[in-house]
Amino acid sequence: MNNNTTDVLESQKSLAERDKAHIWHPYTQMKTAALPIPIKKAKGTVLYAEDGKEYIDAVSSWWLNIHGHAHPYIAKKVYEQMLELEHVIFAGFTHEPAVTLAERLLKILPSKQKKFFFSDNGSTAVEVGLKMAFQYWYNKDIKRTKVIAFKDAYHGDTFGAMAVSGRSVFTAPFNPFLFDVVFIDAPTPTKIESSKQQLAEILENDDVACFIFEPLIQGAGGMQMHAPEHLDELIAMCQAKEVLCIADEVMVGFGRTGKYFASLHLENQPDIMCLSKALTAGYLPLALTTCTQEVYNAFLSDSPLKTFFHGHSFTANTTACAAALASLDLLQSDECQGKIKWLNEQHQAFQQKIESHKNVDNTRLCGTILAIELQTAETTSYLNNVRYFIANFALENGVLLRPLGNVIYILSPFCITEEELNKVYHVIVKLLDTL
Ligand code: PMP
Repeated sequence: MNNNTTDVLESQKSLAERDKAHIWHPYTQMKTAALPIPIKKAKGTVLYAEDGKEYIDAVSSWWLNIHGHAHPYIAKKVYEQMLELEHVIFAGFTHEPAVTLAERLLKILPSKQKKFFFSDNGSTAVEVGLKMAFQYWYNKDIKRTKVIAFKDAYHGDTFGAMAVSGRSVFTAPFNPFLFDVVFIDAPTPTKIESSKQQLAEILENDDVACFIFEPLIQGAGGMQMHAPEHLDELIAMCQAKEVLCIADEVMVGFGRTGKYFASLHLENQPDIMCLSKALTAGYLPLALTTCTQEVYNAFLSDSPLKTFFHGHSFTANTTACAAALASLDLLQSDECQGKIKWLNEQHQAFQQKIESHKNVDNTRLCGTILAIELQTAETTSYLNNVRYFIANFALENGVLLRPLGNVIYILSPFCITEEELNKVYHVIVKLLDTL
């Protein structure tokens, strides 16, 4: 068979079959998974499939998208930037979009955040945050190596990020390779006392380098929520012992909790923050790890040995920075801020409507994120079988949901219309009635 014949045969296969022949998808058991759904285009909250079906993206395509898909304003800004400068090495060089982005974020971040280190995804933002914290102590010649994190935390899939994530099915094959971390209860309403007690015990020794947490909502851990006052108490205890506090805002940043950042709900500010996902509205990969002047100062020295030796090829990609700036323009508009409030009000009303449904165990709401935990006989783990049923049921009804075990959540772009949102609610009610 010559190359031309192979090409002709290939072109007769569907896109999903061609995909199946060569591609390995994330978080997917390739042996049993259904063929992936080819998406041809998207607009606003709607994904348009090759076979003519439409899906409302109620999970913002893995929590990224805040302004809707294929937004002409962001597309135009990215295109204009591409024609000018698509990327330049960020060691020894700089560019307008990176500097302007830092200047603009400085105005809306918690006031102690002063310096910006770029990378390109949530996991690398966390790696950088951890490495900053470890080297902060190393540069000061103080032996502090212990790390505190929450049980059920999720901070990403690279090794450092996995190490500070709760041990789970995700990390099982890698557990022997992960550095030790002390896990404490997250300060949920029923666990705040044990959380404080566990923390107090660990803080008795002055060997803790940092405390990393997902402020207000533990996302992949099942959209578990805690009150800002309770997290504040833990941060205060850590900061009294000079432990560096790292807020992983990869999921909750950029309006998701009702404020620009979840940390803005807190009295005690973190020392380091990790941002990604909605930083570019989900258009291009980009991440930031920000820190206080004090953290930064620990790296300033006449000795090159105190340098932060970390960097990625795509650091501060110019085009991604342009997308982030365009996203900020939209996020800071009255229209978008109005939609964030509206989304919270709609969710409140829906929450009241369904919380006493016989198949609902409990509901949780924070800003624009609504979680519905189902009553199921099975445990609440990620692999709970009900999640396949829910995901398929929703898709058949034109909605993309990606439950975490028995927890359904809505985390949509802010621009979702009333009609689309009502459809999502309607499908969830239908689903609850079917279970
Ligand atoms: N931190 C948190 C809180 C997250 O939710 C995620 C991703 N879901 C990450 C880090 C990792 O981000 P990425 O997938 O971009 O590596």
